[in-house]
Amino acid sequence: MSTVQLTGVDRREAPEVPSGHQVAVRGARKRYGSVEALAGVDLEIEAGRFTVLLGPSGSGKSTLIRGIAGIERFDSGSIHFGAVPVSDGRRSLPAERRDLAMVFQDYALWPHLTVQQNVAYALRRRRITASEVRTRVFETLERVGLDAKTDSYPNELSGGQQQRVALARALVGRPALLLFDEPLSNLDADLRERLRVEISTLARESGATTLYITHDQAEAFALADEVGVLRNGRLEQRGSPEEIFRHPATPFVARFTGLAGSFTGHSVGALGGHSRVRVGEHELLGTTTAAVPAGTAVDLLIRPTATSLHERSRTWPDGDAMFATVIDVAYRGRGYEHVVECAYGRLVAVFDLRPWTRGSQCSIRIDPEGCMVFPSGDSGQN
Ligand code: ADP
Repeated sequence: MSTVQLTGVDRREAPEVPSGHQVAVRGARKRYGSVEALAGVDLEIEAGRFTVLLGPSGSGKSTLIRGIAGIERFDSGSIHFGAVPVSDGRRSLPAERRDLAMVFQDYALWPHLTVQQNVAYALRRRRITASEVRTRVFETLERVGLDAKTDSYPNELSGGQQQRVALARALVGRPALLLFDEPLSNLDADLRERLRVEISTLARESGATTLYITHDQAEAFALADEVGVLRNGRLEQRGSPEEIFRHPATPFVARFTGLAGSFTGHSVGALGGHSRVRVGEHELLGTTTAAVPAGTAVDLLIRPTATSLHERSRTWPDGDAMFATVIDVAYRGRGYEHVVECAYGRLVAVFDLRPWTRGSQCSIRIDPEGCMVFPSGDSGQN
């Protein structure tokens, strides 16, 4: 992970408590040859909010964030920070005048500079005294837990420590916008978790607006005030993590944010705010974003959290149990995740506090709140 400090001339004397940019991207398009990396993206980010753009590899996340950073230019579309036009396709404010800092995935710190020199480098264009630079650098290194490593060189540090240097370098200039390009991707799981919490805390404390991109749904939900889901260069849905998880707008968003599996069936009407769906011998209830007329062929997309396993002898409701066989069981610390097979398909990540042995017979219950009904057609595969 490396940082590029892009300090705006507008804010040479950064105030003590910086206010974040309000960001508005409108109609952003970018082509690379025959590839449409961005196909017309509109994105508004409120000042001071932490927004995560989530999407699979190739969905356009990097292209979008690099455009906002000023590292790349969109073919068309505009970017405003508050009322200030930053880019409109013809003119573009240079990156260093955008008052932002970006943290990348790799560790490209200056190898010939010490930790404190790397961080101080971000303040090189500021009109502040050497002693102020020193104070700020040490304060920031203390905040990322590296005050004991100020004179070390990057090659003397672990990957996680190098990333903390990169984070300090982004924070030290108190930019109005912090951009993160998959900063945790190269880390082990344990370190990834710890650094995620630090990024979340320090970015929010800084008062900056934050835009963070990742392909990892769990990371996005853990970090974000707001999530934007990108697919094929288009923003498919915007919302809080809870909204996206509970009410995915499209099958793609539902799949990309985690499913146990899916069944096919057809709609047979509504019941108490839910959609009734006939699946083979069974009638299941699910949620819909728009009314689905009776007779419509549908897919039921099922969240792992909506599934539970029960003894066959204590089925729910009586006579309507969905029988299944346990195919696999995996210990997950908090309990066990199962793969089960029933007449309509396979469900994975079915959680229970106790393990069900492989080959055992059970019945599955599916909570309508985590069972989303979409007309068949768009499979949601990328
Ligand atoms: P993501 O960050 O979501 O993985 P990118 O923005 O990197 O997606 O890429 C979007 C699409 O644009 C991909 O198909 C990618 O191959 C293509 N692309 C990105 N940068 C370039 C480039 N410099 N030259 C050619 N194609 C590119």
